[in-house]
Amino acid sequence: MRYSKALIPTLKEDPAEAEVISHRLMLRAGMIRKVAAGIYDLLPLGLRVVRKVEKIIREELDAVGCIELLMPIVQPAELWQQSGRWEQYGPELLRVRDRHGREFCLGPTAEELITELIRGTVRSYRQLPLNLYQIQTKFRDEIRPRFGLMRGREFSMKDAYSFDADEHGAEQSYLRMHQAYNRIFERCGLKFRAVEADTGTIGGRFSHEFMVLARTGEDDIASCGSCDYAANTEKAEIGLEGDTVHYSGEQPQLKRVPTPGQRTIEEVTAFLEVEPRQLIKTLIMQTPDGPLVALVRGDHDLAAAKLKLALDCEWVELADNATIEQVSGAPVGFAGPLNMATKVRIVADNALRGMGPAVVGGNEQDMHVSGVLIGRDFEPDDFFDLRVAQAGDRCPRCEGTMSVMRGIEVGHIFKLGDKYSRSMNAAFLDAEGAEQHFVMGCYGIGVGRTAAAAIEQNHDDNGIIWPVPLAPYEALVLAIKAKDPAIAEACERLERELEQLGVDVLYDERDERPGVKFKDADLLGIPFRITVGSKGLARGVVELKRRHEKEFTEVPLDQAAQLVAQAVAEEKL
Ligand code: ATP
Ligand code: MG
Repeated sequence: MRYSKALIPTLKEDPAEAEVISHRLMLRAGMIRKVAAGIYDLLPLGLRVVRKVEKIIREELDAVGCIELLMPIVQPAELWQQSGRWEQYGPELLRVRDRHGREFCLGPTAEELITELIRGTVRSYRQLPLNLYQIQTKFRDEIRPRFGLMRGREFSMKDAYSFDADEHGAEQSYLRMHQAYNRIFERCGLKFRAVEADTGTIGGRFSHEFMVLARTGEDDIASCGSCDYAANTEKAEIGLEGDTVHYSGEQPQLKRVPTPGQRTIEEVTAFLEVEPRQLIKTLIMQTPDGPLVALVRGDHDLAAAKLKLALDCEWVELADNATIEQVSGAPVGFAGPLNMATKVRIVADNALRGMGPAVVGGNEQDMHVSGVLIGRDFEPDDFFDLRVAQAGDRCPRCEGTMSVMRGIEVGHIFKLGDKYSRSMNAAFLDAEGAEQHFVMGCYGIGVGRTAAAAIEQNHDDNGIIWPVPLAPYEALVLAIKAKDPAIAEACERLERELEQLGVDVLYDERDERPGVKFKDADLLGIPFRITVGSKGLARGVVELKRRHEKEFTEVPLDQAAQLVAQAVAEEKL
């Protein structure tokens, strides 16, 4: 491909609206262009990357027996009414009417469509298991579309759905997809972790998010340094440090200490000259069963999702000020577990087991209490794992220690069970001739988000550094002076040879200053650059440079294509 024909509108300046590197570099490298909030043109270079991600996805899914189909973007409301999601889905679902006034939505996902398809076409257990996928445009009216392809409103997703006759089969389907996803992201050249996404009753084993590790990720992930346990910090289980429930060391005196105007952890610790870990935070929470108190150590944060799970209730949230004042008997900021105005259930995070003398709120304006001992001065009703995981926490599965990284969710796999087959009444006949609901799983990958995540992980100050498997072109042939007939001839030869060897090649034959071309080459991030200039040519050599390396090496013109082709093949798994 000739550069001047490829429509690569690179930008010299950083676009103001781009907050993250991948968004900035995709715009600057001429891969995408904004049409409206969260809606983009995919320009030729961007499309080539997306096609490469899709190709890897197809190859790996086909290899585990998935079958591709294509369902419509526009979906009838009736199907969503049958599953109950027409009401539940909320404003992310873009609803439209046709000229007859019939309601439709633009599909944000396709469980309803596929369930309707299978219910009309699969009748017998003999046709199972089935795993069907599509790579199709999705629409979600995201409240905050941002970061370019990372969180768009219109975006491409691979979605797959498995249908099995029983739980065991569904688990096998799930594990096969788990393995396929590992291979897909490995082949994309990404550093990632499969993270347990749910510790709920279905069990974390059957919902995983695939996270690309990157500083700009929107999720915090705790992962063990010794085993493969990893989970969102909001959900990660934390191993117990020991089993001592109560402290038995030196017995301090309980003391009321005036703390005028000091409400926050920072204020109180600074004022009393103690460490945050010596404080107990008292959080008054509201639940469907009324208010309760949750206690966490001053240096920890309460994980609301864990509390909800521990209490086994529909929802929990921070109580409003009136409730806080009513329960504690003091203005907000001074609640504590001793002598509360109203007696409510007290649950404590496991880190409070065995905790030494602590400072708590005094349930009185401008007052705290120090020297508090759990067991002696008050007793929580229960201890649970209630806090957001932090670096240094104990792994729940082994003796290891967890560290915390940021991640971008590029894929999600989920065991659905019979949620859709039951609500939409999709059933088959088992070996005994009895009607059974299909056991389903669903599996998504954000195609554009994967490409963006690759850039988050692979770039420098000058531009993108594509991993070979996703690079829009694998090799760039750059003519120092394209008008020089000898240089043009050598470049065309390289282009031809590379193409014949199956290498995707872009030939920069533009009549531009070399400085401009080198800048663009770094920005586009094509992994191999062959530079052809007259001095080298006179000696029969060209310059070969890897995008991530500083130095080039001289190689004979007649070996350059072969060398590049070999190196490309080695990096494409
Ligand atoms: P998120 O928490 O990021 O909103 P989600 O849980 O809504 O993601 P799923 O419904 O599991 O996402 O969708 C499957 C995959 O589709 C995600 O793992 C992600 O890679 C991709 N995806 C989801 N929403 C978007 C979006 N707005 N733009 C681009 N890709 C998306
Ligand atoms: Mg979402």
